Amino acid sequence: MAETQKQMNLSWHDKAACKGKSEIFFGPYNERTGAKEKREALARQICASCPALLPCRDHARNFAEYGFWGGESEEERSAGGYKVSNPVIKRRMRNQKKKAS
Ligand code: SF4
Repeated sequence: MAETQKQMNLSWHDKAACKGKSEIFFGPYNERTGAKEKREALARQICASCPALLPCRDHARNFAEYGFWGGESEEERSAGGYKVSNPVIKRRMRNQKKKAS
């Protein structure tokens, strides 16, 4: 069953392959594009073999998490129609709209 806002289940944390590796999953505020791509490629590798991937992905999608969760970046969750609460992505999206107009 997919996690909903009414029932947050974090039991999958015990199986997380990213324990102690937060710096790989959450970039600094002013991270450059190349550094972000390298960091997220490494995060994606770790997630690919993580036994908690599916519940982790559901959690991030349902609770508008920022950072790299369940094999997905903020941008990927946003592109999939999921809310992302991180101000960094909101600022990037605003800048992309400005450039496009
Ligand atoms: S899927 Fe990725 S972000 Fe989620 S718990 Fe596993 S390693 Fe961490």
